[in-house]
Amino acid sequence: MKIRFLSLALSLVSTSLLAQQTPQSLADAELPSLLTIYKDLHTHPELSTHEERSAGIVAKELKAAGCDVTEHVGKYEKQGLTCFGVIGVMKNGDGPTVAVRTDLDALPVHEETGLPYASTVTTKNDAGQEVGVMHACGHDIHMSTFIGTARALGKLKDRWHGTIIFIGQPAEETVGGARALLKDGLYTRWPKPNYVLGLHDDAEIATGQIGVTEGYCYANVDSVDVSVKGMGGHGAYPHKTKDPIVLAAEIINAWQTIASRETNPHDDVVVTVGSIHGGTKHNIISDEVKMQLTVRTYKKEVRDIVLAAIDRIAKGCAAAAGLPADKMPEVKVRTDEFTPATYNNPELTKRVSAALKVAIGAENVVAKDPTMGGEDFSEYSLPDHSVPAFMFNVGAVDPAKAAESKKNGTPLPSLHSSKFAPVPEPTIRTGIIGMTSAVLDLLKK
Ligand SMILES: [Zn+2]
Ligand SMILES: [Zn+2]
Repeated sequence: MKIRFLSLALSLVSTSLLAQQTPQSLADAELPSLLTIYKDLHTHPELSTHEERSAGIVAKELKAAGCDVTEHVGKYEKQGLTCFGVIGVMKNGDGPTVAVRTDLDALPVHEETGLPYASTVTTKNDAGQEVGVMHACGHDIHMSTFIGTARALGKLKDRWHGTIIFIGQPAEETVGGARALLKDGLYTRWPKPNYVLGLHDDAEIATGQIGVTEGYCYANVDSVDVSVKGMGGHGAYPHKTKDPIVLAAEIINAWQTIASRETNPHDDVVVTVGSIHGGTKHNIISDEVKMQLTVRTYKKEVRDIVLAAIDRIAKGCAAAAGLPADKMPEVKVRTDEFTPATYNNPELTKRVSAALKVAIGAENVVAKDPTMGGEDFSEYSLPDHSVPAFMFNVGAVDPAKAAESKKNGTPLPSLHSSKFAPVPEPTIRTGIIGMTSAVLDLLKK
């Protein structure tokens, strides 16, 4: 009788312990093993489209957390390239579907953080050059947080119902990974999500905090190639030529009037000429100048205006310079490299932000300004934004350093910097608590 009573008491204790499990307690319990995984991923970064080892770790961990896992998901536009997409499905009865995304890839950057687990990896890039490889965008933080979130949600099944699709996405940095997964049936072979969530570490926000942007948060990214034609000749006889270098200079200045004179001042626009090449020698007027532009916008209609203006202005300047119709500048928008703007669905943003405030404290959820950077997380909401999506930013900076930088205006190492060193422990912990709480809210019973 006594023994039976004792075992009943013990089972009551263990049930109440189970009932006490929270995103916070589970994040704490999983942290030591996640830090080991983080450091291993950090030491072994892989360039975009080469994420074989990282995808293998993510797949193994999703299986261990209770997901049905499919590997090698994704079809690149470039034929014959293996895609290392990983999809893990965690089912828990009827209910809505939420997708959670991590990216897997690193960057061709030679690490200079001096960390004990710094990467010393070098490899040949697709152009055959020897490059260093580093997780300089913190996608290793994302993967570790993602694994921790899967483990936590696997253990909190009494608190949610529905389906979670865990997306391990390759090739974010080169763009094309998200598109490759969608092309391979992400929304048809698996349940189409009601909501998509993602997170990115942040090189300005203090660790322990989460930054939130409602509406547009990352820009449309267009790459444009421009070839300005001329009629070359001797540098001493310019009157017998049409100088494409002078013409290119005029075109570049005229492009500056797109943002200042053509689009609504309330719409954000960046036109940057990042590369210009023309000519071979002091005294030769060349036949051609080549330029490469990056163009950033948010709204589709603004993007259309800006891209059309780039073309029209280039050709108008060439006509004014007296170039014949067959020597008009060629303006090519690289549609294969286009990244759409990331739009944080306002309703979803408000709902998840409220859950984040409960989870980490209202004072730790901070407003973050949108940026003109790019992120192919945007692809998951589809071109018409019909799938509500939300990406939040997890602070990754030592709070003392963040405060000091704010005070004296000295910038901290940015994302993609060889010196970017996120503080792993509190960042991963905050990421797990934030993402787990967000999914629990969207799938609550
Ligand atoms: Zn990046
Ligand atoms: Zn990134």
